[in-house]
Amino acid sequence: MLHGRCHILKDWPAWDYSVHEDKAQIDRQNRAMTYPFTFKINKAAGTARFSSSTDLPFYETTLDHCTCYDFADRGLPCKHIYRLAHELGVIEIVKRKSGYAVGAVKAQREEILASGADIDAHPEQVKRIEKAKDKKCAPISIDVENKSAIFGGSGKEPYVTTVDSCTCRDYFARRLPCKHIYRLRMELGLMSGEPDDKK
Ligand SMILES: [Zn+2]
Ligand SMILES: [Zn+2]
Repeated sequence: MLHGRCHILKDWPAWDYSVHEDKAQIDRQNRAMTYPFTFKINKAAGTARFSSSTDLPFYETTLDHCTCYDFADRGLPCKHIYRLAHELGVIEIVKRKSGYAVGAVKAQREEILASGADIDAHPEQVKRIEKAKDKKCAPISIDVENKSAIFGGSGKEPYVTTVDSCTCRDYFARRLPCKHIYRLRMELGLMSGEPDDKK
């Protein structure tokens, strides 16, 4: 399960998982992977000692505590705690993909769902419906009987799409119809709108 950028690999009971979804926490998750500190992990003890840029000689970190000022101020996981958790394999801090700020995507999803029954009329969905018509969005193959299709994507693996699910990143992040789902629905005649190359 993904919370913020934390992919939880092992139970981490010190914090409620929703804590990691906060924008300020996601910033710390980012910095945990990019900040130029040095550190020494004690795997057996589950602790670490991080280099310091303040008057303190170093920071002592565990999965629920850190001696840095950020932790003293906020009492929430700091970049040291996140990095320790990552190094211990408790979480994996997943790479940020451009255009997918998790908090923003979540807020958008909630807004779209709240907009009422006609999700497809929401501007974000209309954008996807327009993209679906583009010839660049033509499926590699369609299985009419099973109402599924294969689409080429930006990655190595093609996407497998049904009328209500898709293996692409957009669907993964939003759990709302992506352009592939719309294109498949059009190809199957389940919604109005014609692909551009079939007009
Ligand atoms: Zn800290
Ligand atoms: Zn998709």
